[in-house]
Amino acid sequence: MKYKLCVLPGDGIGPEIVAQAERVLGKVGEVFGHEFTCETHLIGGAAIDATGGPLPEATLAAAKASDAVLLGAVGGPKWDAIDKAVRPEKGLLGIRKELGLFANLRPARLFPELAASCCLRPDIVGQGLDVVVVRELTGGAYFGQPRGEEMRGGERVAFNTMLYAESEIRRIAKVGFETARKRGKKLCSVDKANVLEVSQLWREVVVEESKNYPDVELSHMYVDNAAMQLVRAPSQFDVIVTENLFGDILSDEAAIITGSIGMLPSASLGAGGPGLYEPIHGSAPDIAGKDLANPLATILSISMMFVHSFGLTDEAAAVDKAVAEVLREGFRTGDIMGAGKTEKRVGCAEMGGLVAERIRR
Ligand code: NAD
Repeated sequence: MKYKLCVLPGDGIGPEIVAQAERVLGKVGEVFGHEFTCETHLIGGAAIDATGGPLPEATLAAAKASDAVLLGAVGGPKWDAIDKAVRPEKGLLGIRKELGLFANLRPARLFPELAASCCLRPDIVGQGLDVVVVRELTGGAYFGQPRGEEMRGGERVAFNTMLYAESEIRRIAKVGFETARKRGKKLCSVDKANVLEVSQLWREVVVEESKNYPDVELSHMYVDNAAMQLVRAPSQFDVIVTENLFGDILSDEAAIITGSIGMLPSASLGAGGPGLYEPIHGSAPDIAGKDLANPLATILSISMMFVHSFGLTDEAAAVDKAVAEVLREGFRTGDIMGAGKTEKRVGCAEMGGLVAERIRR
């Protein structure tokens, strides 16, 4: 099969980690007989320097014409002081909006080899941590109208509107059910239906949609309880689906439990167009250009791309297995080094090469 990727390295460590993901992609192509064509474009600070804006037309056109987008990271101190309207992050928000990416999938998985990095006691994560948070990305309080600040009764008040249409809830619920179907077949819908009307509608629509997924076990949890359960007994979760604001908080909470930001990939999906795949971390300017970055989050984002955009599950499994193997053999970038005597410290490029070497059918 032939696939066309739009590759957006971005800033800081972006180009280093994306180069390693492309290397692994090339090896998967060789081993499984696919052709991945990568077209590289500018985004973020690099695009501002070259064109004056964070999301050039050419980048957007290439992204729209691709089968999937691979992104590194954007931003850095160089662009912190410039006009807010053209900051690097605007490139990221812009491309998400233009591609209609309404679903954000963030798996938080604790590799057994990295258990020492986990923030929780070993007895709490005894059965492991392997959860995917499916967050709605384009609705809720972040986008609802009316919003603003005004004077009322002689003082300033500010307000936002948490608003969801039935169709928005239904499409993200479908992503939640489909994701659960490909994993442990358990979906937990998180809301605040005891207080919020918008959550009551959320729950009704999720229950309606569940009739199309009899093979997936659906449960509901209030968001305050979900935040507690994630640190009390995280292995109870398989897939969590939730609205924008709750998802923002819970996905960070789930991610940080694993203790290794350099390991966590993400996928943002829309209605049929190209998906966008990126590590959850930023551009790490403190280590950029030093061959110190961990490329595994970006490499694992390729694995998500295989599953969600191309339906290449064997290829995804080959990437996941190669990463696990490298960790098992003791290879570590600086961010995931523990105290173990058998661990071998490697740089970004060597880590990418080690994973690529271990890709097999
Ligand atoms: P960051 O994620 O870039 O870095 C936080 C810490 O984690 C740093 O110490 C960094 O060295 C380390 N780190 C991150 N990724 C790593 C990796 N792959 N390997 C090893 N260590 C890694 O967050 P920050 O420092 O708050 O932000 C830096 C810049 O990145 C800012 O300009 C911010 O706006 C931007 N940012 C971009 C994105 C994105 O592109 N999606 C996300 C978050 C932050």
